[in-house]
Amino acid sequence: MRESVVATLGLGANLGDAPATVRAAVAAIAALPQTQLLRASRLYASAPIDSSGPDYVNAVVQVSSRLSAPALLAHLQTIEAAAGRERPYRNAPRTLDLDVLLYGEARISSPTLTVPHPRMYQRAFVLLPLAEIAPASVSAEALAAVRDQTVKVLEN
Ligand code: ATP
Ligand code: CA
Ligand code: CA
Repeated sequence: MRESVVATLGLGANLGDAPATVRAAVAAIAALPQTQLLRASRLYASAPIDSSGPDYVNAVVQVSSRLSAPALLAHLQTIEAAAGRERPYRNAPRTLDLDVLLYGEARISSPTLTVPHPRMYQRAFVLLPLAEIAPASVSAEALAAVRDQTVKVLEN
């Protein structure tokens, strides 16, 4: 049997009842086959960057999973689709976005999957919730690089 890997996943939503969608997505991730939820951040709110529409609700979770990285992404895309995700254009507002941020120590570069997520270190809405659940994985320098981006804790 495949070894389990700690994967870090980013969640975002800015259409509909975004906090409820993100909470439901955390539950759906926890229910994935061969996967255990290890930690989930609080929900955060951030203004859209290179995008439009209402504020985003974001969170980061860590799971332990025996799914391969492509299989994990496929499951995440199924959860997105069930939440009504459409992709009319790049960076469009969305009901739910689920990204694979990290998959253990793996470096993956395929046409459909790049890990670590190539833009995660540019994004305070990723780094702040990640620092909450895995402080050792986010350096002070990384946080300083995104300190001009306003991200607030939505709930405790
Ligand atoms: P960004 O990647 O900048 O966060 P996005 O999340 O809005 O943008 P999507 O439209 O959700 O982009 O995804 C476009 C494609 O990105 C997906 O079809 C998927 O194949 C690919 N992709 C590549 N690497 C990853 C990853 N690490 N996590 C999720 N999707 C990825
Ligand atoms: Ca994304
Ligand atoms: Ca995505």
